[in-house]
Amino acid sequence: MSLFDKFQPIVDIRAELAKLGVMPFGAVTEKLLSATEAIVNGHKVILAGTNNYLGLTFDPQCIAAAKQAVEEQGTGTTGSRMANGTFAEHIKLEQELGAFFDRRHTIVFSTGYAATMGMASTLAGPGDVIVLDADSHASIYDGVRMSGAEVIRFRHSDPADLEKRLRRLGERTANTLIIVEGIYSMLGDQAPLADIAAVKREYGGMLLVDEAHSLGMLGAHGRGVAEAAGVEADVDFVVGTFSKSLGAIGGYCVSNHPELEAIRFGIRSYIFTASPSPSVIASTRVALRLMQERPELRERLWNNAQRLYDGLEQLGFQVSPQVSPVVAVTIKDRNQAIAWWQELLQRGAYVNLVMPPASPTSDSLLRCSVSAAHSPEQIDRIIDAFAALQPAGMAAAD
Ligand code: PMP
Repeated sequence: MSLFDKFQPIVDIRAELAKLGVMPFGAVTEKLLSATEAIVNGHKVILAGTNNYLGLTFDPQCIAAAKQAVEEQGTGTTGSRMANGTFAEHIKLEQELGAFFDRRHTIVFSTGYAATMGMASTLAGPGDVIVLDADSHASIYDGVRMSGAEVIRFRHSDPADLEKRLRRLGERTANTLIIVEGIYSMLGDQAPLADIAAVKREYGGMLLVDEAHSLGMLGAHGRGVAEAAGVEADVDFVVGTFSKSLGAIGGYCVSNHPELEAIRFGIRSYIFTASPSPSVIASTRVALRLMQERPELRERLWNNAQRLYDGLEQLGFQVSPQVSPVVAVTIKDRNQAIAWWQELLQRGAYVNLVMPPASPTSDSLLRCSVSAAHSPEQIDRIIDAFAALQPAGMAAAD
């Protein structure tokens, strides 16, 4: 018996993939050609699995702001927000996020993971209860585990099941935290937030929504599913990330509860890690502004999403339940999914291969994410790559 024995299943899968000459996990982007094209694992591809939803990673204004920040403030803050790592720009970004979300209190974190994990682990503690959607992201699960609270899962996007579980809690709902996501990362489905908020209103507790994949996409201002569903007043905490629609790295939590300012100093993933570097803050601030100034980005994103969704559906693939910037194709057979992932790469389309336990079911996924920066022709080329897939056998390894 050794510490390493538990890793044997991973060793076995890696060996199997290596024999096939396939490298889906940690595929290497050797050269970026634009926000939508790159050389990956030796293949020139259209990037269709990046979460670069608004295509802002190569925006000239974002790049210029990042460059200027590096030159004026250096490459890193070299310390945590609570020590030496709070620069005036961190505060400005917090104010700008607060204004964007129309919330009084904001915390900026170093990653989206730190934001979600930090909030979930700190808001609830021993003696409290967390009721979370069963298909929650790993960052939520990790925070929930760290919290020491009693953990109850409800069936994915099922408000009736949530209601049943809150009803059973009786008076304990007073110190219960409910956690859901806006758009779910793997299948792109939206939480039924109007119904979830109605349940919360009836039974009590607090509601935290992770809008990592919905910022800039939904709602009149782009604030996400809560805004689109008209239930922002019922959402106590919104968390999210700068690493998707804002094209950088970092995370945030916004709230109207004044207690957030005190809670900030109890969040371990805020206290014990270095703050985001100046270039990251600078490009994020510009991206947040551009997201609001350029509604056409959002329009292009949704047109591209619809185009890819329709194209893959017409080809007969089992696509996500809802049109969204995440378009996932479900593949029952894991080996088929691996072979097709490789074949797509060879045909010039990079997508995400998702296998259990990362996928929400026992099936595998070829997960695509579209960008406002994709041209309609690029979307058609992604569809063409899927159209050429043959069900038989494994693709030749190259
Ligand atoms: N929450 C959700 C729902 C996510 O999908 C992700 C990233 N995949 C995160 C949080 C973490 O964000 P980041 O990668 O920016 O740390």
